[in-house]
Amino acid sequence: MTPAQDIDFEAFEKLSKHIDPNIILRTLASMDPATLQKTLMATAGGGRKPRQAPPINSDFFDIYETMTEEQQRVGRITREVMQEEIKPHVAEYWERGETPKEFISVAARMHEKLFGKDWEFEFPPKDPIGSGVMQMEMAAIEPSFQTFVGVHFGLCAGSIYMFGSEEQKAKWLPAMTRFEKIGSWALTEPDTGSATAAGLETTAEKHGDTWIINGAKKWSGNATIADVNVIWAKNMETGQVNGFLVETGQPGYTVEKLEGKISKRLVENVLINLDEVEVHESNRLPGVKSFKDTARQLASARAGVAWEAVGVAKGAYEATLDYCNNRKQFGKPITKFQLIQMKLVQMLGNLTAMQTMALRMGQIEARDGTISHERASLSKAWMSDKLRETVALGRGALGGNGILIEHDVARFFVDAEAVYSYEGTYEMNSLIVGKAITGQSAFV
Ligand SMILES: Cc1cc2nc3c(=O)[nH]c(=O)nc-3n(C[C@H](O)[C@H](O)[C@H](O)COP(=O)(O)OP(=O)(O)OC[C@H]3O[C@@H](n4cnc5c(N)ncnc54)[C@H](O)[C@@H]3O)c2cc1C
Repeated sequence: MTPAQDIDFEAFEKLSKHIDPNIILRTLASMDPATLQKTLMATAGGGRKPRQAPPINSDFFDIYETMTEEQQRVGRITREVMQEEIKPHVAEYWERGETPKEFISVAARMHEKLFGKDWEFEFPPKDPIGSGVMQMEMAAIEPSFQTFVGVHFGLCAGSIYMFGSEEQKAKWLPAMTRFEKIGSWALTEPDTGSATAAGLETTAEKHGDTWIINGAKKWSGNATIADVNVIWAKNMETGQVNGFLVETGQPGYTVEKLEGKISKRLVENVLINLDEVEVHESNRLPGVKSFKDTARQLASARAGVAWEAVGVAKGAYEATLDYCNNRKQFGKPITKFQLIQMKLVQMLGNLTAMQTMALRMGQIEARDGTISHERASLSKAWMSDKLRETVALGRGALGGNGILIEHDVARFFVDAEAVYSYEGTYEMNSLIVGKAITGQSAFV
């Protein structure tokens, strides 16, 4: 017996205007069970099963298939850890606008799971594709987490690895691989951003075995939680840029968190004041002779940001398609509308082109052991531009919910803005490529 509350009286009443419902009931009652079932299925769904959305596939050109088993494993485990340990809390973290202390423990567990307890850090990474896939999968869930790890390793530990003495490496790198010590990196200044190559205002003056550093720095991710910061300053003897390891708590070194940031809210950025900070000669990075060395490191770091851009686009595409599959308007899923499909396809096209470019960039980096400035800059500039377009399409496809954190796309939308401007702005990276292809420098 059908319970009374399950009977659709409204439909019954409508039907009775056209036909006597008793006739239908009598006809149905006279049917054998198999025919009755077929008839009921046909009337419920017009004879067709409702269309199921296919599983979301953000690897449309099988990029993963071209990778080694190890690279695939790195991508899969990174994704799993992010999904299980970070994703459930991102909305809450985002509201707080602080670096959650859980970032440190999750990053430590993730790296141990991937590479074992005593893994050795190398920079530029020996396997640029494996490293890139990791950046991509971290950013696809929470871009700030990727930045936190990127500044810690790619910038800070990377500087120590590339330019540090054996003592500096022994002191910092093992502890940093276990996330027992956290790193930061400070090149940009309040009044010197894109123009750092033309000279820094922060100065380092040598007195015996001690350097006295004066000046200010801006942005420097992780500085509020870091144990060590790589401070770039002008050597007053040579006029060239040098790098110094400044430890937190040193007299004259003060850090103030930048408030009111709308992008990458889970990475704390700062203003740093350096007032007569004394740094022993043993804490100068001996491998840095001039800005050319800093720039060498930046090319590899930029390649990492290009992979990050792929990840942010991937996260935005997946979240947008998932939302559209489930959202109904005018009685149908919005994926039935042509304009929504067009947005999704544009997003997927951008994402696929970005993945393909990143993969080729990684292959070249693996082949040559390095990536050239112009290639890293083209990847970073072009991808950050396509990323902006991609997240804007997604944000639009979600309607009003596109600006709510709970639907994820809003986070990717605002985080794309930082990707567009850091590690060299879109414009500066374009000018690096412009100079390479025309032979003309248009920086000033
Ligand atoms: C979230 C975030 C995190 C960051 N983390 C770090 C960090 O950890 N460490 C660190 O050192 N820095 C960090 N930065 C700083 C970042 O690298 C700088 O923001 C970037 O280099 C640009 O400098 P600027 O913001 O001072 O812009 P400006 O240099 O003032 O540029 C303003 C505008 O002028 C344009 N412009 C400048 N010069 C030219 C030119 N010659 N031709 C054409 N256009 C030009 C730029 O493209 C831009 O559009 C971070 C920034 C952000 C937003």
